[in-house]
Order: sequence, then C-alpha cells, then structure tokens
Amino acid sequence: MAKIFRIAIDGPSGAGKSTIAKAVAQKLSIDYIDTGAMYRAVGYKMDRDGIPFEQGEALDKMLAETDIDFVDGDIILDGEIVNTLIRTPEVSMLASKCSSIPEVREKLVEIQRAMGTRKSVIMDGRDIGTNVLKDAECKIFLTASAEERAERRFKELQEKGEQQTYEEVLADIKARDHNDMTRELNPLRKAEDAIELDTTGIGIDEVVAKAIEILDQCLNESDQ
Ligand code: C5P
Repeated sequence: MAKIFRIAIDGPSGAGKSTIAKAVAQKLSIDYIDTGAMYRAVGYKMDRDGIPFEQGEALDKMLAETDIDFVDGDIILDGEIVNTLIRTPEVSMLASKCSSIPEVREKLVEIQRAMGTRKSVIMDGRDIGTNVLKDAECKIFLTASAEERAERRFKELQEKGEQQTYEEVLADIKARDHNDMTRELNPLRKAEDAIELDTTGIGIDEVVAKAIEILDQCLNESDQ
C-alpha cells in the first residue's frame, strides 16, 4: 500500500487556502478536506434549528445527531448537500462564533482526525498543523494582508450578487481574524514546523507553483 501523507494548510480567512488546497489535491490525486466548511455547517444548523451558541444540553443533543461528510467535493450535512447554503456572510460569522465552543471543536476535530488516518489528504483550516494533524508530513501557513484578503472576498461576493461593501467585508475579515486568533481553544497560529507563504501581491498560479515546490521538498524529506 502506498504510504499515507498528510498536508496541513492553515491561515486566516481569505488567504487562498481552499483555492491552493483544491489545486494541490487535484494535482496529487488526493482528497481535499475543507474544515472551515464543517464549522460553517454546524453554525448554519445551530442557527436554523435555534440552538443557543453556548454549552448545554441542546448543543450536546444536536452534536450527537449531526453527521458531516464530504462526497465527491460536496459537503453533506445530515444527508443534504449544503455547499451554497453555508457560503453566505452570515454563515461566516456563525461559523466563527460556534468554533470557539469546546464541544463543537471536539466533535469536528474527531471527525477530521479519522479522515486523516484512512488516506492521504490535504486539509485546510486554522488548527490543522498545530492540533488536528500535528504530525502531518507537510505544513504550510498561508497569509496575506487583511486588505488584500478583503479585496479577494469582496470580488467573490460581488460575482455571487451579494450586496456587502468592501468596508463591510474588511470589517468582517478583521473581526474573524480577531475571534480566530484570540479564542482560548486551538487559536489560529503558525505551527513551529510550518513553512510560511505570504500571498500578498502574488497571482494564484504563482502561489500554487510555490506551494507545490514546498510540498516536493516536504515529501522528499519524509522519504529520507
Ligand atoms: O475557512 P473558513 O473561512 O470557511 O472557516 C469558517 C470559520 O470556521 C473560521 O472563521 C473559523 O472561525 C472556523 N474554523 C476553525 N477551525 C478550523 C477551520 C475553520 O475555527 N480548522
């Protein structure tokens, strides 16, 4: 059996993690696991079902009854494809909000670790290199200035017909950065052994090429 290898990509919102991860997954023919989508799915479900965003019985019951999986690139929440439902600015904030609740993290990290033991994967998020896959063969920390990240997100939202202004998008990005970096449990930070890649002012093709270079280097090292 081929050796399993895990690639962890962490970084703040809008740094380009999912674009890079998808491109690399395709190139290496391995599975891509978008852990942000899992927090989005939980935040969406809590809001839809009126579950309070705090520890308690209602949350425990909901988590016990929640099933999240990826099938052919789709995210499935309790049997339903929720790809587009979870990609709204409201759900971005709900995801950030639910991600600081310990029981939510515990449940999702357990699912993520199980996914990472069965097969080679590229997983992106905030705590993959520092917590979920601490022993990943390759760790990349992707960054870009808040302004550039907001600019990219703003363009994406405009294409989808969302009405947010650039200033609102930038404020959301800064608020999420703050939540993600200051939460008590598994905050966003670069793992000591991660390689940092700053994508400010760099086009997507060049970032993918640089990421592949880093991966080649990691894979060669893990073979030795
Ligand atoms: O990556 P994305 O923006 O889709 O993630 C949505 C939210 O989920 C983030 O703002 C973050 O609060 C949370 N998240 C997390 N840990 C991860 C991935 C995402 O806390 N591994």
